[in-house]
Amino acid sequence: GSHSDDSSASFVKNPTIKFTKLFINGEFVDSVSGKTFETIDPRTGKVTARIAEGDKEDVELAVKAARQAFDHGPWPRLPGSERGRIMMKFADLLEENAEELAALDTIDCGKLFSVGKAMDIPYAANALRYYAGAADKVHGDVLKMSRELHGYTLLEPIGVVGHIIPWNNPIFVFFMKVSPTLAAGCTMVVKPAEQTPLSALYHAHLAKLAGIPDGVLNVITGFGPTAGAAISSHMDIDAVSFTGSTEIGRKVMQAAAESNLKVVSLELGGKSPLIIFDDADVDMAAQLAIFGIMFNKGEACVASSRVYVQEGIYDEFVKKLVEKARAWIVGDPFDPKAQQGPQVDLKQFEKILSYIEHGKREGATLLTGGKPVADQKGYYIEPTIFADVKEEMLIAKDEIFGPVMALAQFKTIEEAIKRANSTRYGLAAGIVTKDLNVANTVSRSVRAGTIWISCYFALDNDCPFGGYKMSGFGKDFGLEALHKYLQVKSVVTPLYNTPW
Ligand code: ADP
Repeated sequence: GSHSDDSSASFVKNPTIKFTKLFINGEFVDSVSGKTFETIDPRTGKVTARIAEGDKEDVELAVKAARQAFDHGPWPRLPGSERGRIMMKFADLLEENAEELAALDTIDCGKLFSVGKAMDIPYAANALRYYAGAADKVHGDVLKMSRELHGYTLLEPIGVVGHIIPWNNPIFVFFMKVSPTLAAGCTMVVKPAEQTPLSALYHAHLAKLAGIPDGVLNVITGFGPTAGAAISSHMDIDAVSFTGSTEIGRKVMQAAAESNLKVVSLELGGKSPLIIFDDADVDMAAQLAIFGIMFNKGEACVASSRVYVQEGIYDEFVKKLVEKARAWIVGDPFDPKAQQGPQVDLKQFEKILSYIEHGKREGATLLTGGKPVADQKGYYIEPTIFADVKEEMLIAKDEIFGPVMALAQFKTIEEAIKRANSTRYGLAAGIVTKDLNVANTVSRSVRAGTIWISCYFALDNDCPFGGYKMSGFGKDFGLEALHKYLQVKSVVTPLYNTPW
C-alpha cells in the first residue's frame, strides 16, 4: 500500500511502502499464520500499512535459515576482506536510499526527516564501514605458555545471533547491532519493534542487493511476547542482543537462562544526569540541556532527563532554559523547521502525560509545557520542564522517554555527584564546566557507561557504548561490540614432541 496524507503542506512526503512481509532466507514471505498487524503514523494516528505478523513458527524458519547459512553457507567462511567489501556496498546502498529510508522512519516513529537523513543514515552507513574495515583485522593471539607448549587463540563467529530492536531509533540501532555481527561472520534473526517495522524490511532488501547471502540476515516483524520471546528462548540461537526497556531486558535474560544459556547483552533504560557548574557559559549550557532531553522528543535511552545546576547560575539558567523551551518548534517531522515531532504512539503519549500529572501532584514546579500541543491531531507533547525535583519523586526516578526534564539545584560538587548517582540506572552523564579538575573528578565518580563533557549525544563508532547498573551490560560500538559476536577458542599443542 502507499501512504497518503494531508497534501496541503508542501513539505509532506509520501514514501511508498514497498516491503511489508517477513524476510526469511533471502525472500519476502507471509507469516505462517497469515496474520498481519497495523503500523500507524504518529502524526495522525492513522494506519499506514499492514505488516506480516511473525510468531514462533516464523522465528523457527528464520533460525533454520540462519543456522544453515552459518553451518554450511559462505558467509562465515569468506575472508574478512570479502565480507567487508560486501558491507561497504551495503553502506553505499543505504546512502543512495537515504530519503526513502528516512521518510519511512518519519511516518513510523515520528522522527524528524531532516535528522534521519543527515544523521541516522550517515551514522548507520558509517557503522557498516567501520566494521567492514575491521572484518579482516581481528584475530587471536599467540600465547606465552608456561610449559613446553604452543598455544594460540582463534576468534570464531559466535553463531546465530538474535537482535531485538526498539522503536525510538529504528535505523540507527539496527545497524549498530547488525554491522559488527556481519563483520564477525555470524548469521542473524532481527526483530524490529512492532511500532516501527518499515525501515528494517527495506534494509533486508538492500542487504540482498549488496550481495549478502540468503539466510545471513533474516527479519521477523511482530510483537515482543510472541516473536521476541521466541528469539530469546530459542534453543538454537547462540547470542541475543537486546535494546529496550529494563523490564523487558530482564525477561530476555530470564528466557536465555531458562533455554540454552545463550550469551546475552542488554542496552536498557536510563535516567541520565546533566550536571552544570557555576563556571559554565549559561546560554550554551541551557541549549545543551534542552537538546539533551528534547532531541528525538525525549525518546532516547541516553536523554539527559535529570538536570542539576549549581546555585550561582541557577536563576539565570532557568530564565534562558524556559525561553529556549518555548522557542523549541514542535510540529510535523517532515517540516525542516520542526525540532520535535510526535511521540511514537498513543501508549507512549498517554504514559508521558500521566508522568506529567504525577510530577504536578508530587509537588515539583512546572516551569513550562505540561500538556499536548493544542492544534495538532497527532501525539505531540509540549517541551516540559519541572523544577525543584527531588530524587524520591517518580519523575526523577523513572525513565519517562518523553520531552520531560527534571531540574534541580545543587551547591557542592560532592552533592552533585551523590545526586547524579542516586539512580538505579547508569547509561550516560553530562558535565558542563571549564574546570578540568571538576570534569575529571565527576567523570571518575559518576557510575555511567558514557560521560560527555561540554557536549551531549556524542556517539561514535569507535566509542564503546553501554550501561552500568540496571542500564544493562555489554557494549555496542567499538571493537568491544565486534568481540561480543566472537568466541575465543584456545588451541594447545606440545612443543618438541614432548610427552605431556
Ligand atoms: P518499550 O517498553 O519502550 O516499548 P520494549 O522493551 O517493550 O520497549 O521493546 C523493545 C523491543 O523488545 C521490541 O522489539 C519489543 O517487541 C521487544 N519485546 C517486548 N516484549 C518482549 C519479550 N517478552 N521478549 C522479547 N522481546 C520483547
